[in-house]
Amino acid sequence: MGIRVRFAPSPTGPLHIGGARSALFNYLWARKNKGTFIVRSEDTDLERSSRESEHNILEALRWLNIHWNEGIEAGGEHGPYRQTDRLDLYRDYTDKLLNSGHAYYCYCTEEELEQERQALIANGESPRYLGKCRHLTSEQRVAFETKGRKPVVRFRVPEGQAIHIKDQVRGDVVFESDGIGDYVIVKSDGIPTYNFAVVVDDTTMNITHVIRGEEHLSNTPRQVLIYQALGLSVPEFAHISLILNTEGGKMSKRDGDTAVMDYQKKGYLPEAIINFIALLGWAPSGEEEFYTLDELAEVFSLDRVSKSPAVFDIQKLNYINAHYIKEALPERLAELALPYVQEMDILPQGERSAEQQQWFISFIEAISEKITYLAEVKDYIHYFYGDVPLESEGEAIEVLKGEQVPVVLALFREKVREAELLSGATVKVLLKQMTKELKLGGKLVYMPVRVALTGQMHGPELYDVIPLLGLENVLKRLEVTE
Ligand code: GLU
Repeated sequence: MGIRVRFAPSPTGPLHIGGARSALFNYLWARKNKGTFIVRSEDTDLERSSRESEHNILEALRWLNIHWNEGIEAGGEHGPYRQTDRLDLYRDYTDKLLNSGHAYYCYCTEEELEQERQALIANGESPRYLGKCRHLTSEQRVAFETKGRKPVVRFRVPEGQAIHIKDQVRGDVVFESDGIGDYVIVKSDGIPTYNFAVVVDDTTMNITHVIRGEEHLSNTPRQVLIYQALGLSVPEFAHISLILNTEGGKMSKRDGDTAVMDYQKKGYLPEAIINFIALLGWAPSGEEEFYTLDELAEVFSLDRVSKSPAVFDIQKLNYINAHYIKEALPERLAELALPYVQEMDILPQGERSAEQQQWFISFIEAISEKITYLAEVKDYIHYFYGDVPLESEGEAIEVLKGEQVPVVLALFREKVREAELLSGATVKVLLKQMTKELKLGGKLVYMPVRVALTGQMHGPELYDVIPLLGLENVLKRLEVTE
């Protein structure tokens, strides 16, 4: 049997960077080994789970180009792939554990459990279930049932056992069973808990490697005990490090968005997000920092996944995204950037003329080296579009007060009018000619032209701005300064 791995999100919200990284590492491991990547849904938290979140998570995976061979929407032989559709299966396994004595019904009330907790804490001990219902007789059970109490099912944790976990990232990790306490595997409403359902899913889906976030390491001994009780073989584990902010703290909104689709909305490219999250906890052997998904699938290995926490550095992501924007075809960027300018009522929502389309592509080409993500087209569009410049402020106002300015602008107007074709190349020549004819230093010529046309002292190259504005807008913009 080949490698089989899975991504098992809880559909309680959007796909976060950490989840996307787990999905990616599983996907890469499957591809590298020509194995199978499964996506399933852990939706047993009935209150917080929703189909909408599930849909959003799947959409985010697709956007990232992380595709799965088996699972939700893809189908397969080991379905259903949604936990709430697998309740009968969990019931069978619960019966097995009850019958073999590895699990038992517990009738303790919330209040009783809380009292026990408080007493343990007051004693300086770690709170855990002490096993009050471990040895109930059938009479005691009947008595509780007639009182109308609904039981949970608890796993009977063996005493004095060392639980060894062989983790591909963390090495051998040992947990003592005594600290664990009998834990709930089925709640009183019949819904299994995560630690139980995940074992049933992983075993029935023949999962060979469980690759997931480090926050699940402490759950692993509870899962291993269930495998052992059922006489099943345990999969390989690989717990990948937490993702921290640059200060070493927990990631928060302040450090950058945590939901993958927030990056999509800002116009980050999926290949940049993939490249960035691949480097969160995994390190290539060479110096190269840019990897496509295909390249990653070749070079990825679990033994280069680091034990130390990964650092989420938005600057790094921006650097990677800017790189991919420079590399991308302008036609593709134009398509992706279109909604931002449509939002500003620039370019129509419906059909665009070939001319408008070409104009927009040239605009993107002119700024693609300057932007970090595509929503920034909104900050640039005013240079290139419309017949009024931004209002000048501060130093820019001073520039237009220079004594040479009226002559410069008059000559510029004359030259653009005369130009047969307002291309980047002709604009370059035209500006150069002006410095010669007026016998003025470049800055004294370019700067007033720039400020008159754009209102600002900095910005994209004039030979990009002028052709895209077009003769009519150039002349109108000049009128403002007259
Ligand atoms: N549903 C869990 C989560 O979203 C996944 C746990 C696992 O991979 O075992 O964190």
